[in-house]
Amino acid sequence: DTIPQLLARTARRWPERDAVVFSDENIRWTWAEFAARVDRLALGFLQMGLGHGDRLGIWAPNRSEWLLSQFATARVGIILVNINPAYRLHELEYALRKTGCRALVLAERFKHSDYIGMINQLLPQLAKSRPGQLEAEKLPDLRHVVTFGDATYAGCHSFTDIEASGQQGDPARLDAITRTLDANDPINIQFTSGTTGAPKGATLTHRNIVNNAHFVTSAMKATEQDRICIPVPFYHCFGMVMGTLGCVTKGATIVVPGPGFDAEKTLTCVAAERCSALYGVPTMFVAMLEHPEFSGHDLSSLRTGIMAGAPCPIEVMKQVQSKMHMSEVTIAYGMTETSPVSFQSDTDTPLEKRVSSVGRVQPHLEVRIAREDGTTADIGEQGQLLTRGYSVMREYWNDQEQSDAAIDAEGWMHTGDLARIDAEGYCNITGRVKDMILRGGENIYPREIEEFLYTHPDVSQVQIFGIPDPKFGEIVAAWVVARPGTSPTEEGLRDFCRDQVAHFKIPAIIRFREELPMTVSGKPQKFVMRDAMIEELG
Ligand code: ATP
Ligand code: MG
Repeated sequence: DTIPQLLARTARRWPERDAVVFSDENIRWTWAEFAARVDRLALGFLQMGLGHGDRLGIWAPNRSEWLLSQFATARVGIILVNINPAYRLHELEYALRKTGCRALVLAERFKHSDYIGMINQLLPQLAKSRPGQLEAEKLPDLRHVVTFGDATYAGCHSFTDIEASGQQGDPARLDAITRTLDANDPINIQFTSGTTGAPKGATLTHRNIVNNAHFVTSAMKATEQDRICIPVPFYHCFGMVMGTLGCVTKGATIVVPGPGFDAEKTLTCVAAERCSALYGVPTMFVAMLEHPEFSGHDLSSLRTGIMAGAPCPIEVMKQVQSKMHMSEVTIAYGMTETSPVSFQSDTDTPLEKRVSSVGRVQPHLEVRIAREDGTTADIGEQGQLLTRGYSVMREYWNDQEQSDAAIDAEGWMHTGDLARIDAEGYCNITGRVKDMILRGGENIYPREIEEFLYTHPDVSQVQIFGIPDPKFGEIVAAWVVARPGTSPTEEGLRDFCRDQVAHFKIPAIIRFREELPMTVSGKPQKFVMRDAMIEELG
């Protein structure tokens, strides 16, 4: 199926069931209402002169306009370009230029971000042009700027106006266009999280993401009875493929607590909406579990969910199962470039494996663990994980060199992650190739030390990475966030490790900080911590 075929089928099957809830915006749509709104906006996009193959960028946190844009662009084959809501002008310009966007849709503001102010700074011509007539030297392809909501700003269309203009369009035109779409057309350019450096734009097709959304939600045994709470950002594949698109594949309700992650709002939303599933990266689950009001929320409606995106500490997994009623929670592993998920535990996975592995390979995918020399590793042996199959992206948009480096001639995607797979097919992600620490000839895997330190009662979050050292090449450093009300010490943590962990793995440097530097998708950025620590140490 293409994305519009999928949505049409769901809307025909369950027209009156809840499709979409945005708690923050007081929005509640059935599938029939949602599909009608998507069509109206798609017609509005056509009226703007946008069409099949054009790129439309979206720069905003989770709001209803984001969701409508996701499905309205797909309806007429416009390629949606997800732009990180945390981006500032330099990065925004790069993303828009790289992908040649013809239109940019943006939120007015969010928290400390004044998106309108920033876009006027980037495009001083905007204020003087008429909506749709933009001529910007810096961004020669960009014609239209659309702002969320109904307020109008100089040079911009308002979202409400675009929807209203769609009302005059001819719905028959939409069906004619939808019939010409091919499941192998690119439909989405998604930037990776930027955990290890500059984000890369993965080009994904309908086939890539519709199938992945289906398998991910199947592993949770999701049905139209489920109500899935999505506090993870739409701009990332976790939110828009596993989340919103996943719900459409099953007719499950899309429940969104609000723009940006907020532990309290998410807990309140789960309780008020009686959600049966909850998504999050590990740091979000930690924030909810440690929230002072945690026990005041009735989470008994929860059954399952997904924890993914970064290594999931076993301790956190256990607490999610026992304290949040999510006994059937699954772990997923994937990357933007593979649409995203390639491994996932499911409700049949034995408990012990469910907390300690990322499950087994998803249907219709091949995986291989490669040694450094490229040969295939043995069962249980660690090496780089390669994946192949329907889910592998077409390319990094407009970047042949990086694409060739990532996908080899046989179609294997080189994930850059280290993993091992046991005899029953359960996979452990043991770290990123880039994060491996080489200390005086010893290979050290940060993940192992992180897991151990998570068992210390005063440790809320911990990240381990290498920093350069004249004697050993690299030494082990730790960035620790203490549990509220505790004050662990450097020596105390080292003592804790002493008889449990080989001496060369014990962090030589430990720093306590209020928080971890994080991507918007909630992933700790080790390169930022490493740079900060190197600077501090001189
Ligand atoms: P960039 O490629 O820009 O540095 P990124 O790799 O974090 O950022 P994403 O595509 O969002 O961008 O994330 C994919 C990566 O997240 C994987 O390659 C892997 O390292 C990590 N990851 C995802 N899920 C898991 C998981 N369940 N366990 C461990 N690591 C995970
Ligand atoms: Mg990556």
